[in-house]
Amino acid sequence: MLALLLARRGVRVTLLEMHHDFDREFRGDTVHPSTLEILDQIGLASRVHELRHSKVSAPTLLTTRGAFTPFDLSRLKTKYPYILMVHQKDLLALLTEEAKKYEGFQLLMGASVTDLIREEGVVRGVQYQTGGATNELRALLTVGADGRFSRVRHLAGIQPVRTSPPMDVLWFRLPHIPGEDIDAPGGAFGGFARGHILGGFDRHDYWQAAFLITKGSYPSLRAEGISGLRRRIVEIEPRLARHVESLTDWQQVSFLSVESSRCRRWFMPGLLLIGDAAHAMSPVGGVGINYAVQDAVVAANMLAKPLLAGRVTIEQLRAVQYKRQWPVRIIQALQTQIQRRVIANALQAQEQRGLSIPWFVRAFTRIPLLRDLPPRIMALGLVRVRVED
Ligand SMILES: Cc1cc2nc3c(=O)[nH]c(=O)nc-3n(C[C@H](O)[C@H](O)[C@H](O)COP(=O)(O)OP(=O)(O)OC[C@H]3O[C@@H](n4cnc5c(N)ncnc54)[C@H](O)[C@@H]3O)c2cc1C
Repeated sequence: MLALLLARRGVRVTLLEMHHDFDREFRGDTVHPSTLEILDQIGLASRVHELRHSKVSAPTLLTTRGAFTPFDLSRLKTKYPYILMVHQKDLLALLTEEAKKYEGFQLLMGASVTDLIREEGVVRGVQYQTGGATNELRALLTVGADGRFSRVRHLAGIQPVRTSPPMDVLWFRLPHIPGEDIDAPGGAFGGFARGHILGGFDRHDYWQAAFLITKGSYPSLRAEGISGLRRRIVEIEPRLARHVESLTDWQQVSFLSVESSRCRRWFMPGLLLIGDAAHAMSPVGGVGINYAVQDAVVAANMLAKPLLAGRVTIEQLRAVQYKRQWPVRIIQALQTQIQRRVIANALQAQEQRGLSIPWFVRAFTRIPLLRDLPPRIMALGLVRVRVED
């Protein structure tokens, strides 16, 4: 996104991607209204809606006291009052195709950054490997947008402060079974039993399911065999009895070690970190890609002119961090509260068979003025970010 926005402003950008394609299973497909509004500003919203997608606006949780809808995005004041579930590879293909229309944009696939070029304490570009050869790319500004295990961050010697939440997530697909399928009017379902939480999103051809487990319990779950996972899923949602027959091997299950972290400093002379490299977000609320996109927009807004002028100062890089770090901190604090008060309780309740929602959460979701505040922050961001031209 940053490469596209800078290329639109006439900045020369080279984007290095270590893989030969963008195809990764379950890597954040929740495109929130905030990102849809940004795509709308750059004329890409209708093309994103042409990609194969589904929409989630008001998921339903099965609880001890019946169905519970934790949030309803359809009440938000936005052109796009829903989460668009779209494969990340399709979205990235669209963004890079669009960026290729600009002369100054270059995409190098299969190009893995291995080192930083530093001169007199300033980062002047990177060394990267492609096809076994080592190359150099010199740049006025190097941006580490290389994810939660950021190599660029490591090479810069910047350490993230970790706040590891008490859970991990297993992601897998379950098939739709006509006539025996789950009824999920808001596009998603959720439930709980004996210390595990299950969520599912309708992805047209299949259900994308998330199974939350206590942090560190994955090895013992695996030791039970895949039939143990199938049994636990059916304990939560008996209507999935036939669907789970499709799970026959742990290879079908992706493990996400949940992390939440942020760096104290996102920059050094000649270098800026954005997205997961600067702050890995917990999966609560599915904000990760959306906060990364907002970082990209703010960075492009604040740095396009200095880049075109050929000089980026440390103050300008600091200003990007200052603008973004507060929304990140506040959302991480909100995620931590949800994890501690609702998710951790549920994961520890081994004997309980249904998700029990604390009374104050139920009460909160009935107060018209307050109930839309947390979903608004999750879906639209704390501060609305706009693309400047
Ligand atoms: C299993 C899983 C499920 C998730 N689910 C959700 C979700 O539902 N919703 C959500 O919003 N977020 C989700 N996230 C988080 C989301 O994927 C991230 O927050 C988001 O992708 C961050 O974007 P980014 O551009 O900062 O980093 P990334 O998307 O991680 O992109 C970094 C890119 O840099 C490349 N790279 C890494 N190292 C190098 C190198 N040395 N040289 C060149 N290229 C390199 C990588 O190949 C990658 O393409 C999930 C994450 C995981 C792991």
